[in-house]
Amino acid sequence: MLTKYRFKTQITWLSTGLILLTVLSLTASYWFRIADYAEQQIKQQFNFAENVLNQNLITQEKMLITAASVLAADFGFKQAVASQDKNTIDSVLLNHGERINADLMMLLDLTGNLITTSASKTLSLQAVTEGIQSLPFRNVHAQFLRIDNEVYQVIVLPVKAPRVIAYTVIGFEFGQTSLVELKDMISLDISIVQREKILATTMKSQYSPEQIMQEAIAPPSNILLSSADYYHQVRPLGNSKTLSVLLSASLVRIHHDFNQLISSILFIALFVIVIAIALSRLLSNGLSKPLNILMNLTQRVGRGDLVIPKLSGDLPREFTELYQSFSVMGAEIENREKAIKYQAERDLLTGLYNRQKMLQSLEETTTYSKQSTLVAFNIKDFKTLNDTIGISNGDKILQELAHRTFHYLGPLSAGDVNVIGVARTGADEFLVAIDTISTDYIAKFLTHLQSELDRPYWVSDIKINLSLYFGIAQFDEHISIDAEHMIRRASMAVSAAINEQVTVRYYQQGEDEAYMYKLSLIDELKSALEAEDSPLFMNYQPKLNMATGRVDKLEALIRWINKEGDFVNPELFVGLAEKAGLIVTLTRWVILHVVKQIEHWNLQGYTFKVSINLSAQDIQHDTFVEYLLDTVAAKQVEPQQITLELTERDLAENENLVASRLSYLKSLGFQISVDDYGIGQSSLAKLKHLPVDELKIDKCFILNLDKNKQDQDIVMSTVLLGHRLGLQVVAEGVETAESLALLDEYKCDYAQGYYLSKPLSAEKLIEWYECYETTT
Ligand code: C2E
Ligand code: CA
Ligand code: CA
Repeated sequence: MLTKYRFKTQITWLSTGLILLTVLSLTASYWFRIADYAEQQIKQQFNFAENVLNQNLITQEKMLITAASVLAADFGFKQAVASQDKNTIDSVLLNHGERINADLMMLLDLTGNLITTSASKTLSLQAVTEGIQSLPFRNVHAQFLRIDNEVYQVIVLPVKAPRVIAYTVIGFEFGQTSLVELKDMISLDISIVQREKILATTMKSQYSPEQIMQEAIAPPSNILLSSADYYHQVRPLGNSKTLSVLLSASLVRIHHDFNQLISSILFIALFVIVIAIALSRLLSNGLSKPLNILMNLTQRVGRGDLVIPKLSGDLPREFTELYQSFSVMGAEIENREKAIKYQAERDLLTGLYNRQKMLQSLEETTTYSKQSTLVAFNIKDFKTLNDTIGISNGDKILQELAHRTFHYLGPLSAGDVNVIGVARTGADEFLVAIDTISTDYIAKFLTHLQSELDRPYWVSDIKINLSLYFGIAQFDEHISIDAEHMIRRASMAVSAAINEQVTVRYYQQGEDEAYMYKLSLIDELKSALEAEDSPLFMNYQPKLNMATGRVDKLEALIRWINKEGDFVNPELFVGLAEKAGLIVTLTRWVILHVVKQIEHWNLQGYTFKVSINLSAQDIQHDTFVEYLLDTVAAKQVEPQQITLELTERDLAENENLVASRLSYLKSLGFQISVDDYGIGQSSLAKLKHLPVDELKIDKCFILNLDKNKQDQDIVMSTVLLGHRLGLQVVAEGVETAESLALLDEYKCDYAQGYYLSKPLSAEKLIEWYECYETTT
């Protein structure tokens, strides 16, 4: 809750609060202690007063007893009483009374009737008689006698001659005067009370007896809290049963003293509070100033301003240390930011821009300079090179290449041409952007760059020569495409250079559209592979067994009619599927449909062997073999009915793995065929070590076989060599009877081609087959 207040206010409140708390608790504790103490004091005073009073009464009693005894023993007095000589009695009483200053002398007959009296005051006879009636006669002690409003301490003694003949009463008045005397002695006001009624008192007349009695009956629980001026207590008066004394101690002085004490405490507290406020202001200023400095500092850091100013002024040491840690932190953040920025923008291997940063630079530049040329270049067969010399050596080459490019470009920026950026955008894909489209300049630029990069590279004492492919895309104000698109054009140009085996290739108009078309085809193919009612289907092309003249083998070929109803070239979409990582899915689709079809034919009594085309990725895929076996096992199809066709190039990739998997499949009865044989680089000697059953001579040697002598030689010798290696030989692309005849002559095992039949749908194939069987 405190947190919403400022620091200064908090400290001030805290110190003031603490002081107030101390003062209040001190005061409260004083209050109770002092009240207690004062009450004890008063009670002691009361005890003392009671003692004095009793002492006084006892002294007077003794005097009364003596006087009375002397009187009672006075013979003349006895005679006078016996003879009822009133005059003598009166004078004797008076004499004796005066001797001890008695205030009351009386003589009573045996029944208690007043015979005679002498008193310092005039008393009504009736009052005296009433008073006497309440007096116990046979008591040797002094007693109190109330007559009207006067109280007397009296002693009653029998007058014996020798029988009791009368009673004599001698007393001292216990009234205002004696009370005042007593008050002087005990320093307390004193009142005589009979049944809650005050008979005599030393209290000033301003206090009404009713008020006094009320206060006496309900004494305050704490004398300091009471508003009354007096504290009273009732004490017994001698042995009297009806009378008592009320002692009253004045509280005025105590109240006064106490109030003075409280005022001085409060005054001191106030004084201390003022000092505390002043001190806490000072203290909080001392603290809040550094805090404000730190607050401003963190706000600065928050805004990204990491340059931390020097600290000035005299500040506490802890704070200076804290401030210094902040400075260090700022510097560290700055370094880290730089590092993060570097990592976000750079290719970490070469230190060149990464693709993202290149995009950004291109976007920034093309907003003011509309002319730019992008030169993309790749290393020929870098993957193979990497495999041969090892990844770390490959990395060294890339670094060296980046270094040369960067240093060749360095001086360029100083001239008329600006380098927008140099980036590595992929494993061996580099990109240079410059802000000119001058053909002459670009030609010179390329020549120099090439000569710089073509120099041999040395890694671990091995000399390596690189071949590079360059792709160029140019942009001016008429071409409004974004940076991403620009980079794509340049890399398309490199891809084309690689495909076409030319060193430098410019982007050509329309390649974009072709690219987009391919992208859309990939998308469509994806859904086609997932669709229930797929637009994909299989065709089957018969293979003629030359020895028997019968058709016992087929090749399964995939077909696709796209959304627009166009036939899509399988070579095109199979190639795209390979690049887009869809080929494995596609081959599974093919395997499933072909195996189903074979089973269907088996059940109808047609037992064909069918070839399925695979790609390198298929056979290398972890679950391919499992999938093939499961699919075949689930249908009534024998592995012997299935031939797997792979091209020479597919067989060369990851050779050991491919060979071991094919061996396994071969051992289960599957047949392996080398497709498009003759156009790849592999030799027959290499094929010897591969688990192969069949060679398919590429159709480029067969299509013109009947007319081309060279093809005839090649085909003839290939058939011969194939047989020597124990392989069956298939010729595909047989379009004429003449070619077929030649193949028959060469003892080629199978012929496949339009001459026999184009690839047909499953139903059409059966129709064709039935027809073929009947006509031959
Ligand atoms: P391929 O495996 O070499 O298939 C043989 C190709 O030669 C087929 O072309 C076939 O129609 C064609 N052909 C057969 N006889 C003749 C002829 O007498 N004259 C001419 N000019 N051509 C003939 P298609 O069906 O267009 O297939 C092209 C390529 O697409 C195939 O070449 C194969 O590489 C690929 N392909 C086709 N279907 C599949 C498939 O299911 N899976 C895979 N991975 N690739 C396939
Ligand atoms: Ca084939
Ligand atoms: Ca082929």
